[in-house]
Amino acid sequence: MKSVFRFGGGTAEGDATQKELLGGKGANLAEMAGIGLAVPPGLTIATSVCAAYYDAGGRLPDDVQAQVLDSLAFIEGVTAKKFGDATNPLLVSVRSGARVSMPGMMDTVLNLGLNDQTVEGLAAASGNARFAWDSYRRFIQMYGDVVLELDHYAFEDALEIAKEDKGVTQDTGLDADDLRKLVARYMAIVEQALGRPFPQDPHEQLWGAIGAVFGSWRSDRARTYRRLNDIPENWGTAVNVQAMVFGNLGDTSATGVAFTRDPSTGEHAWYGEYLINAQGEDVVAGIRTPQYLTKAAREKAGAKAASMEEAMPVVFAELGRTFDLLERHYRDMQDIEFTVEDNRLYILQTRSGKRTAKAALRIAVDMVGEGLITEAEAVKRVDASAMDQLLHPTLDPKAVRDIIARGLPASPGAASGIVVLDSDSAEIRALAGDSVILVRTETSPEDIHGMHAARGILTARGGMTSHAAVVARGMGRPCVSGAGGISIDLVGRTVSTGGRIVKEGDRITIDGATGDVMLGDVPTVEPDLSGDFGILMEWADKHRRLKVRTNAETPEDCRVARQFGAEGIGLCRTEHMFFEPSRITAVRRMILAEDTAGREAALAELLPEQRADFAEIFRVMAGLPVTIRLLDPPLHEFLPHDDEGLADVAAATGLPETLVRRRINELHEFNPMLGHRGCRLGITYPEIYAMQARAIFEAAVKVAQETGAAVVPEVMVPLVATAKELELTKAAIDAEAAAVFAATGTTLDYLVGTMIELPRAALRAGDIAAHAQFFSFGTNDLTQTTLGISRDDSARFMGPYVEKGIYPKDPFVSIDEDGVGELVALAAERGRSVKPDLKLGICGEHGGDPASILFCEGLGLDYVSCSPYRVPIARLAAAQAALKKG
Ligand code: ADP
Ligand code: MG
Ligand code: MG
Repeated sequence: MKSVFRFGGGTAEGDATQKELLGGKGANLAEMAGIGLAVPPGLTIATSVCAAYYDAGGRLPDDVQAQVLDSLAFIEGVTAKKFGDATNPLLVSVRSGARVSMPGMMDTVLNLGLNDQTVEGLAAASGNARFAWDSYRRFIQMYGDVVLELDHYAFEDALEIAKEDKGVTQDTGLDADDLRKLVARYMAIVEQALGRPFPQDPHEQLWGAIGAVFGSWRSDRARTYRRLNDIPENWGTAVNVQAMVFGNLGDTSATGVAFTRDPSTGEHAWYGEYLINAQGEDVVAGIRTPQYLTKAAREKAGAKAASMEEAMPVVFAELGRTFDLLERHYRDMQDIEFTVEDNRLYILQTRSGKRTAKAALRIAVDMVGEGLITEAEAVKRVDASAMDQLLHPTLDPKAVRDIIARGLPASPGAASGIVVLDSDSAEIRALAGDSVILVRTETSPEDIHGMHAARGILTARGGMTSHAAVVARGMGRPCVSGAGGISIDLVGRTVSTGGRIVKEGDRITIDGATGDVMLGDVPTVEPDLSGDFGILMEWADKHRRLKVRTNAETPEDCRVARQFGAEGIGLCRTEHMFFEPSRITAVRRMILAEDTAGREAALAELLPEQRADFAEIFRVMAGLPVTIRLLDPPLHEFLPHDDEGLADVAAATGLPETLVRRRINELHEFNPMLGHRGCRLGITYPEIYAMQARAIFEAAVKVAQETGAAVVPEVMVPLVATAKELELTKAAIDAEAAAVFAATGTTLDYLVGTMIELPRAALRAGDIAAHAQFFSFGTNDLTQTTLGISRDDSARFMGPYVEKGIYPKDPFVSIDEDGVGELVALAAERGRSVKPDLKLGICGEHGGDPASILFCEGLGLDYVSCSPYRVPIARLAAAQAALKKG
């Protein structure tokens, strides 16, 4: 079976569509080689070999070895160099490359093929002994670290000592002789640690590095990353072996990384960093401070070191042309790695660049303007969940900021939380409910879990393309990187900055848009939704079929939701209104009453208040549908739980304490979630629902008269299990409507419907539909009652449950399609079979979850309803769902 694929020399045995087989890096290298870009020739060992490697007990199958050697000969042909040759040696890099880019995998090994002979050959062939020894010491260090798994500090220490001895601060200050001595030192380190010398045979080096890449697929780091990102274990990684090009050949050589647009803001400006006389890893590792790519960026940052545009204008111009070509070719913003070897440009990697939500929006909208993509493609491209980043408040520019440090604005958004200095603690503190700012000197793939648990990330070292910056942007976490003024004391557990000491556990705020680090919490302001956001939403709305409503009960929430584009209210909970200080006493008097007359008297007090609430909401919603749910929670939720509260209630209601205590005891329930609540209250105390229905109709009539516009209330009955419950409740509601219409001489259209939130209701949806004009799937309760899991208690075990694959995702976040989803599908079908025009919606937490919205689109529901801040996410997700369905 063909398992090894070649690229370079003007041809390629693969292309960008073959990511499954070749991995992302390999597929794109092939694509670029295929379209004639200068890509050093190489070979890709297919992802399928990863499993074969494990099956063979951790070795490369013989036929794959043979294919690798064959393709190595091809690389030798293209480069006119020979692997292991003492006079003209071919050196290669060995690079991992899964289908999607995956931190946590083995790092790349560069300069492989060097040994005590070939290093001399390289020195002679290049006429540059310093370069040859620099490459050799890099190779031993990388191979020692990632393949031989030796402690990298030993090498770093030796390098530091060499620089100190010489009195220089930069690696480039060491000459050929210094580096030769350093190599000898490295060799001794390896031999001491391993008990055998560093492998001199280039083929042994090659098999070792290839094995290490496959082996790293099952490392803890890689597994953690896959778990957090839903990447299947069985994908496997590919391995790329590629001829080296050298950015460390002197001052006409360089290496860099670039984005074709600004990944933070989306601005159409080349964005990146480079280093003269360096190799790839130097830029990301933060060993030397990288320089800016463009003159404009350098000037903006007030930096002195020449930009690439200034230092290498000819190569820079070619790089710019390559950026444009790649963007047009891939029709997306690209993240590119390049190396300049003696003024010749090589492209070593391209992929779709990770970007913030803000940048994703701007790039999508701009690219439609540039004619690169269509409106529908723009809608499909922007990750709906990531929009969350934009829909939340940012730091109030007018707030006082006690700035304690400044770094780079590496990933936008603001976050406040307690300082935590390591990733394990960050995870623990976050699980305990703290908002955490992870503060590290720099981050590495070992920090992924801590970064994920943190609200924000602050590092002392590293640039805009450092590990922390890239990963934080991908995760949507605000990040300030390279805050050089801070230093971290891991023993004393403090951060010191400009003479001030912040202890682990103290609160700070970071602003990823400016790079500011502030002591304490800083107040925030609402987001701005005009511009690109508005444009994309308009396009989304053109393709959307599902309506999007909101769950809101205060006029303020309703206003926010309307600004976000809500097309009605899908769930207005009335119980929150009962808690208002001006009414809670009347509510309590109603609950504590010992007979119907007592209850009615208290309800009469509440009626005008509820009417005013509803009227205000009808006014704000201006003719849009409003679904009002009648009282749902058990009554004892409105009563105090301690003696002090009890005394207060007695005083406020004028009732004796003994009576209050007795009624509280009478109302006690063993399992309130399954107790006397929902329509069960309406059945046993009809006067409560009667008052609410009356308030709704009186308010509707009043607003309709005031405005002359149609008001269509939708009255929703909660927790129905049987058709009879709804039949009785509906009759009572209709009676109130008739009474109000008779008294006011006005009639208006209204609907009565029910929540479907119990499995029995879903099963009997046919009978229930006979009495309902709409169903609203209350998937929070439906999930609780179908799974038999209380949402409030699930946090303790849902983590391990998801990890073990028992549920693919937290079923309270994303609908359990197989279980709860089947009940929803069945209820929709049975309901519609009885009443074809039955209106169907969903009002659980799932109404704002893109995966659940896709599911709802599949069922052909009429609307989803979600919290106000998620309305735009739902609009976009609904459009994407419609486009996906075609
Ligand atoms: P990662 O996935 O961590 O970016 P890469 O395989 O892309 O790892 O390589 C790490 C660094 O080494 C990058 O800067 C890359 O450009 C550089 N590099 C990889 N292969 C070569 C090569 N053949 N010649 C020169 N530099 C290389
Ligand atoms: Mg790379
Ligand atoms: Mg419910």
